[in-house]
This record gives sequence, C-alpha cells and structure tokens, in this order.
Amino acid sequence: MPDVYNWQLGRKMAYRFPERHPRAQFAAVFNINRCIGCQTCTMACKSTWTFSRGQEYMWWNNVETKPYGGYPQFWDVKALELLEKANPGGQSWDTRQRDDRRAPYGLFDGKTLFEAAPPSAEALGYLPTDEEWRAPNIYEDTPTAYPVRTGTYHATGEALPEHRTWFFHLQRLCNHCSYPACLAACPRNAIYKRPEDGIVLIDQKRCRGYKKCVEACPYKKPMFNAYTRISEKCIGCYPRVEGRDPLSAGAPMEARCMAACVGKIRLHGLVRTNPDGSWVEDRQHPLYYLIRVARVALPLYPQFGTQPNIYYIPPRWVPRAYLRQMFGPGADAAVETYTAPPRELLAVLQLFRASQRIIFSYRIEAGAKIYETTINGKKWEMFNDTVIGLDRAGKEIVRLTVQEPIYTRPAQHLNSI
Ligand code: SF4
Ligand code: SF4
Repeated sequence: MPDVYNWQLGRKMAYRFPERHPRAQFAAVFNINRCIGCQTCTMACKSTWTFSRGQEYMWWNNVETKPYGGYPQFWDVKALELLEKANPGGQSWDTRQRDDRRAPYGLFDGKTLFEAAPPSAEALGYLPTDEEWRAPNIYEDTPTAYPVRTGTYHATGEALPEHRTWFFHLQRLCNHCSYPACLAACPRNAIYKRPEDGIVLIDQKRCRGYKKCVEACPYKKPMFNAYTRISEKCIGCYPRVEGRDPLSAGAPMEARCMAACVGKIRLHGLVRTNPDGSWVEDRQHPLYYLIRVARVALPLYPQFGTQPNIYYIPPRWVPRAYLRQMFGPGADAAVETYTAPPRELLAVLQLFRASQRIIFSYRIEAGAKIYETTINGKKWEMFNDTVIGLDRAGKEIVRLTVQEPIYTRPAQHLNSI
C-alpha cells in the first residue's frame, strides 16, 4: 500500500491509493455545547434526500445521545474494540512531537484502521446487523455516571469542570474524509472524491451493492438500499455547495442540515488545500481559524485514520478521558479555550448559522467592553465586537455583534400575536 500523509495523526500512514487532494475541501465545525437535540437537521436531510422506498431506515444526518446512543447502535464502541484487539494498547499519542503545521495534535503511535486491516480487506471494519440500524435515536437523553455504571447517577455531580452525571448530543454525517475508508474498500471503484470540493460520492451506476463501503467506514455512513440493491450516502448537498440552489443566485450555500440548525451550532465551509493536502494558510477563514489557529474544534476519532473533515467543539462538562478518546489529545486545551474564549473566538462563534450562504472569510470591528469576570482564577473580559462574514468575492453577507441586540416590542403591538 502507498504511504500518504495524515496531518491529524502527524505522520504517514498506509492507504490503498497514492495521495491526490482536492483543490478545496468540504468541512464544518459543530459546537456540541450548543446542541439542543431537536433533530431539525436530521429532518431537513430526511425530507430532502431519503424519503423514497428503500431509504426508510436511512438517516444520513443523525444526532445521537452519548455515551449510550448510536446509529447504528454501538458503531464507535465496535470500531474502537476492533482497533484495540488488532493493536492492544496502541491508541496513544506522543504530544511532544506536536508541530503547528504538520502535526497539530502530536504523533499517533498506534495503527489506523487501514494499517490494522487483515490481508483480505482494505480497512478493519464490520457490517452492522439489522437490529443495530433499527433505532436511530435509542437512549435519547439518557445520562450516565462516570465511570460508567448503568442506572446509577452521581448524587451531587453536576458541577464544572466535569459533571459526574452527564450526556451530550453528537451530531453526525459523512465526514467527506480525506482518506475515505469507503472509497478504499470499494471493489468496483464506484466511490470517488470530487477534485473541486472533496465531497465523497457513490456512483450509483457503478455500485453493485457489495456493501464493502458499509463494512469499512468506521462512522457507518454509507447505507445499503435493499430496494435498489445499491449503496447510498450523504452527498454533501452538492447542488447547494455548487451554488445551484435558486435561493442563492449562484453563490455556494450551506448543506441543508447546517442551514436548518436551530441551535446555531453549525458552521459549514470550504477550505482551500495545497497539492500536498495541507490547508492553505487562510487566517481570516472562520474554519481555518477555529480548527488550525484557536484549535477549539477537533476531528472525531482521528485515530481511525480517515482524516475526517467534520470538526467538533467538545462539550465542556464531559469527563476528559471520554473526550480524549473521542477527539484526541487536543480535547483538554479545546475545552479550556472554549470555557474562557479569547476575544476573537467569541466574535467568530457568532457566525454559526448566521447565513445560508457559505462564509469564506471574516473581519472584526472592535467594540466597547461590556462585561468583566473571573474564569478559573483568571480575569476575563467581554467586548461587544462586530463580526462581518464575507463571501468568496469578499462581499459582506452577514454582520453580527457579540451582544445580541434587544428589541422591545412597542406598547401598541403587545397583543398582536
Ligand atoms: S465518513 Fe465514511 S462514508 Fe463518509 S467519506 Fe468517511 S469513510 Fe466514506
Ligand atoms: S438542528 Fe442543530 S441544535 Fe438541533 S439537533 Fe441538529 S445540530 Fe442539534
């Protein structure tokens, strides 16, 4: 197998195909701290793409309650167990090898799902059972004590920095990975990554429904259609990303799940990539800032090796060991940064779900100080800055202040609804 560079692991790894990277990459940041589990994203996707025969069980976007929930059930526990069995104790990181550009989280010591695969497969994986697919939101809002003891809750554990009785919502869709396991596993070469935006698609004409992609994807995002007998997956709402939605007059738009998000937890974008797969340094791009500069948003299970492109701001009340396993060694620093956000971060966080149009850059106009407090023993100040989101041509598409404006309804309209 050729060697490819995976910057999330800080090293080269084995992959079926040599490196070839898109000019831009579909990416997003999800702020878990804000999600209310309303499933509006899930239904926006369902009503757009998966309402046909054979798609009844498909939820290309789903929101599950951690630690128990999963769609399909136990998808991550099973993948982690497979990896652990193939490489006992291997899921460890050397953070001393951290390098801002090439290894921002340090060096992953263990084997990826590609490297731990048996000779008969391109990636270590499994096929979920029908039962595991049957309930997309099982264990909704079910908390646990930590260490996990089913059915027992800590009596007084709801205090930061770590709640001892906890749950959180995890929002999931295809990660449009840089090294997709689905693509590597397809014996028909029916899966491809688009050079213009990195969206990963299954060619419905080439696919013969062997389900190798379902087996290989650790996130279990390809799904088999028993009616058409071919596999399907999230298409990244590519017509909207291409600007073909009539609403945007040719401008790239956020995917449906992102644009519909009630909790304003999602920010969708396209990051520019260099021919070697590294990200073009783009300091004023909101995703580049959140992921590469502030490092407040992290990939989901980077140890799998697919280099996923959906990033998460970890929930700050959750035990850190759980977050480290899920988001890698950057979890502690990300929570710390989010807990007392620097001035620029607080402004950029306002851009989430502010426009259906994709934001390509931002600028900030300084505002007055409006609040001061102490967080974790340190002074923290809040400024009412204005953040301006710009489109690809640098034209303003959205403008927000850190402090939400208050509108007082005039007395004559008090009972008008
Ligand atoms: S999340 Fe799964 S289906 Fe999506 S690109 Fe990655 S490996 Fe393929
Ligand atoms: S729409 Fe937003 S807030 Fe609601 S469940 Fe989806 S991600 Fe969470």
